[in-house]
Amino acid sequence: MTFSDLGLSQKVLSAVADAGYTQPTPIQAGAIPHALGGKDVLGIAQTGTGKTASFVLPMLTRLERGRARARMPRTLILEPTRELAAQVEENFVKYGKNHRLNIALLIGGVSFDEQEKKLERGADVLIATPGRLLDHFERGKLLLTGVDILVIDEADRMLDMGFIPDIERICKLIPFTRQTLFFSATMPPEITKLTQQFLQAPVRVEVSKPATTATNITQRFVKCGNKPWDKRDRLRKLIDAEGDTLKNAIIFCNRKSEVATLFRSLVRHEYDAGALHGDMDQRARMTMLENFRKGNLKLLVASDVAARGLDIPAVSHVFNFDIPTHADDYVHRIGRTGRAGRDGKAFTLITKADRKYMDSIEKLIGQDVEWLDGDLTTLQADEMSSTEEKRGRGSSRRTVKKDAETPESPEATQGSDRKARKEDIKSDNSERKGKPQSAEPRRENRRKSRDDDNTTVGFGDDVPAFMKIPVKT
Ligand code: AMP
Repeated sequence: MTFSDLGLSQKVLSAVADAGYTQPTPIQAGAIPHALGGKDVLGIAQTGTGKTASFVLPMLTRLERGRARARMPRTLILEPTRELAAQVEENFVKYGKNHRLNIALLIGGVSFDEQEKKLERGADVLIATPGRLLDHFERGKLLLTGVDILVIDEADRMLDMGFIPDIERICKLIPFTRQTLFFSATMPPEITKLTQQFLQAPVRVEVSKPATTATNITQRFVKCGNKPWDKRDRLRKLIDAEGDTLKNAIIFCNRKSEVATLFRSLVRHEYDAGALHGDMDQRARMTMLENFRKGNLKLLVASDVAARGLDIPAVSHVFNFDIPTHADDYVHRIGRTGRAGRDGKAFTLITKADRKYMDSIEKLIGQDVEWLDGDLTTLQADEMSSTEEKRGRGSSRRTVKKDAETPESPEATQGSDRKARKEDIKSDNSERKGKPQSAEPRRENRRKSRDDDNTTVGFGDDVPAFMKIPVKT
C-alpha cells in the first residue's frame, strides 16, 4: 500500500513525499481512511509507530476547505505534555508546508499574550495541553463551539497525569457533532470508560497489543547493588561497555532529585550528559532537547514526565537507572529506542528491592527479560553491602561534602517513589495553574525541597520561620 491509496489530498501527498516516506505505517494505513471519512477513530498505538501523522495527515486534507474565525479554532489536539504538543506542531509545519494554516500552540511556561494573539487571528489548528487550554477558556479568550475535529493523544498518559477530569470537561464544551480521534498506547479501564462516553461508534485500529514491546529492542536486566553509588558505578560500566554502538541514550530516573544527582555525577565523570526534568523552564527544556536531537549531547538523563512522547528518531540506547514502579512506564521508556524499525537496546538496573516491579513488568510484556550477566541470585554479598566500608559511610564529613550522593535506604526510596512521582507530575501540571510569574520562585522552592525529601513533616507547606534557621553541627 502507498500513501496515494489512502485518499489524502495532493498537497499532503507531496509533503509526505518530501519527508521521504514511501509507505504508510500500519496505524496510518488503518486510521487515515476512516479519519478522512469523518468517522471517530480509537487508535491503540505507541509512540514510534507513526501515529502522529495518522491524525495530522487526514486533518490537513480536511482543513483544505473552510476558514477559521477569531477565537473559534476549527480543530483541537490535546497533548499531555508541552514537548509532545510542540512536536505535534512541528509535524503540522512539516506536513502542512503546502497549506496556509494558522496553528496555535497553547502550552504552559509561555506568555498568555502571544497565545491570545494567535487565537484572535483565528486558528485552523489548536494544539494544547489541557490545563492551559482551560485557562484560556476561563479568561474568555476561546470558544470551542467551532471545533469540528478533536484529537486526544496519549490518553493513558493523560490518566497518569491526572488530566482526565479536564478532558471530560473539554469534551463537553465541544459540539457533539464533532469527529473524535482518540489515541492511547494502553487501554486501562478508565480510558475505556472515557471512550465509551465520548466517542461515537468508533473504528478501532490496533497496531500492536497494548503494552507490548517492539521485537527489535534488545532488553536486558542488569543486577546491581542497591546503594545509589553502586547503581551509578554499574551504569558507567554499562555505558563504557557499549562503546561505539552507543550513539546516544536516554537514562531514566524515577525522581527529579535523582535526575539532578545522576546528571551531576556523570558530568563529574566527564560524560557528555544533559538533564531533563519537570522543574526546568520551557526554554531550557527545549534547548536541551534540541541539543540532544541534533547529536550535540550523547546522554540525556530524564524523568518520565519530562521525557514523555519525545520524538527523537535515533536513540540507540535506553537505560533504566531506576526500574519504573508502573509497568506501563517500562513500555513507554524502552519505546524511545528501536523506533521506526531501527534496532535498539534497553538496560534496566535491578536491585534486590526491585523484585516486585520486575515481576510486574515481565507479566505486562508477557515475556521474561534476559539478564546481562546472571540474575539477582548471583549478586555478590560485597556488591550488596560493601559500600558502607568502601566509602566510609557514616562519616559526617562525607555527608556534608556530597549531598548529591546522600544515600537512602532502598525501603525509603521505594516508599517515597509514589510520592516523588506525584510531585513530578504535579510539577508538570503546575503549568495549568496560570499563576503570575512572580509566584513561581516560591512554588519552585517548595517543590525542590519536597523533591529532596527535606520537608518538615507536619507543617504542610507553611513551615514556621524558626524551623528554617540552619542548625550548626
Ligand atoms: P510517531 O509515532 O508519530 O512519534 O512517529 C515516529 C517516527 O516515525 C517519527 O520520527 C516520524 O517522522 C516517523 N514516521 C512517521 N511516519 C512514517 C512513515 N510512513 N515512514 C517512515 N517513518 C515515518
